Amino acid sequence: MADCIFCKIAAGEIPAKVVYEDDAFVAFEDIQKQAPVHVVVIPRQHIARLTDLEDAVFAGKWLLAANRAAGVAGVAESGYRLVTNCNADAGQEVFHIHMHVLGGHRLGRLG
Ligand code: AMP
Ligand code: ZN
Repeated sequence: MADCIFCKIAAGEIPAKVVYEDDAFVAFEDIQKQAPVHVVVIPRQHIARLTDLEDAVFAGKWLLAANRAAGVAGVAESGYRLVTNCNADAGQEVFHIHMHVLGGHRLGRLG
């Protein structure tokens, strides 16, 4: 989608530190890390919000891609948290769905 920063990253039009990619997903380092390991996992397909996601198989593959990205980032055993923000109250800023993979130190409680 035009003017979507994550579509441009998926297309290689904007540089990113890619840690994992396959035919359907790309995982890259967040530019404003909120933990020692902070990777963002996106589908190559533009889907704006979590509420727009309808394909269960695709959703499962996205989760597995996040797990693989966590493995490549070295936090599979130490632990990691997956976060997806949807709409205003969650603070969604980029309207192309993405899973945050956070780890590398002991994370605070959710809330
Ligand atoms: P959210 O607030 O859940 O929409 O998260 C958007 C995330 O994308 C934020 O953590 C940003 O730091 C990150 N972000 C925005 N632009 C870029 C970029 N060009 N490369 C990497 N991460 C980005
Ligand atoms: Zn997009």
